[in-house]
Amino acid sequence: MIKRLIVAVALIFFQTITFAQQKPNIVIIISDDHAYQTIGAYGSSIARTPHIDRIAKEGAIFNKGYVTNSICGPARAVLLTGKYSHKNGFKDNETSNFDHSQQTFIKELVKNGYKATWIGKIHLGHKLEGFTDYDILEGQGHYYNPDFISLEGKHREEGYVSNIVTDKALTWMDQHKNDPFCVIIGHKATHRTWMPDIQDFGKYDTVDFEIPATFYDDYATREAANQQEMSISKDMHMGYDLKMYPTVADMRKEGNYARMNDQQFDAYEKYYRPIYEDLKNKHLSGSALAEWKYRRYMIDYLNTAESMDRNIGRVLEYLEKNGLAENTLVVYLSDQGFYMGEHGWFDKRWMYEESFRTPLVAKFPGVIKPNIEINNLVSNVDLAPTFLEIAGVKIPADYQGTSLLPLLEGNKKDIRNNVYYHYYENGEHAVSPHFGISDGNYKLIRYYKRVDGWEFFDLNNDNAELQNKYNDPKYQKRIQKMKKLLLKEATKIDDKDALAILAK
Ligand code: CA
Repeated sequence: MIKRLIVAVALIFFQTITFAQQKPNIVIIISDDHAYQTIGAYGSSIARTPHIDRIAKEGAIFNKGYVTNSICGPARAVLLTGKYSHKNGFKDNETSNFDHSQQTFIKELVKNGYKATWIGKIHLGHKLEGFTDYDILEGQGHYYNPDFISLEGKHREEGYVSNIVTDKALTWMDQHKNDPFCVIIGHKATHRTWMPDIQDFGKYDTVDFEIPATFYDDYATREAANQQEMSISKDMHMGYDLKMYPTVADMRKEGNYARMNDQQFDAYEKYYRPIYEDLKNKHLSGSALAEWKYRRYMIDYLNTAESMDRNIGRVLEYLEKNGLAENTLVVYLSDQGFYMGEHGWFDKRWMYEESFRTPLVAKFPGVIKPNIEINNLVSNVDLAPTFLEIAGVKIPADYQGTSLLPLLEGNKKDIRNNVYYHYYENGEHAVSPHFGISDGNYKLIRYYKRVDGWEFFDLNNDNAELQNKYNDPKYQKRIQKMKKLLLKEATKIDDKDALAILAK
């Protein structure tokens, strides 16, 4: 009897050990403001992103990956909690504080034996809970010589942010490679003010960028779009954004450059000073100046993305060299999409496709077949349950998303037939708060606070979303259907702010 008991206990013990060793690692690489339009795997013929493309090639690419609230902090809060902004409490960057005592998928993983860290940009305050470790950028973070905050306190690191964040992630993984681990690598790139690593200057200087078809959008049927302050021609700063300072001293005293060492600053001055002199001699104005700004924006942005992609390559190489690649889920996404001159804009915030959609690629050998394209609608609220299901951890009942694992395993069945959106911030860039719903064919948007009104788009006939058809008699039946769907979804996820507006 005792012998049998010992055998049984030993068996359970062994099974536990084997199971623990088999738990997959999870590597989540989240960039900031990285537009799918500038990724090779999403069809860019100009941008070079070989390592992001490789994740897509060895795994899955989501062509309809959306976010619930297109802005930095809120998007990361949704990622962590599997809940919409109104439930996790982080609605906007300007007034919200993230309550770290709430439930997150990280806490569930740690309860189940995982080591977990966030390294780099998080933008949800400085005192994290639930992680076994962290080393995050202070606030928005800086491209050069950034300040980090870890359990030991604040410390400054000399160098370029994408390299430092990746160095830290590789060191951490190396320390924890014998445990199941989850690392979130939060890149500062490609956030404003798009400051490249010195070694990447010049990589796109000779490219002939085509002006986007909607660059001169007149916003004729869209009042909120008419009121925004995020246009390249009017709102992008010559100094702060485009590094065009009248004198070297002017540049040196601006915060991003004041923190540079002499070698870093000299390299910046050497690259940008001739561009400034050339611009001065050209005496540009009107559309010629707007197009010059667009071109410089594209160059700085793509040069900044070069380092991030190269560093993603270092992570993939580390996993392969250490025999971890087979048992590791690698996900690459941005916190949201971004405008690369479409509608004449930079920045994000809107429920229009360029900012509503995010790049999302994932590889996990043995689970995700190589080179699969997923065209089903998915939302970033679906990611937390996905990570838990892949880790074999029970998904808490109050999660609002649905695991993407069936899609990743090649099951073509839709997990959702619409994507719900709510943007709350009412400040920088003057984008009116709005919420809405898209079923992939039609999109209905309700604006409030700054602008009071509706927009409706027939995406199959107007994929650039230039023609608001809300008052077109032809679409009234469809609009009523979409309103019902919007009300149904707002009720389902308990979005009280939206419900109050819909009830008016
Ligand atoms: Ca962002």
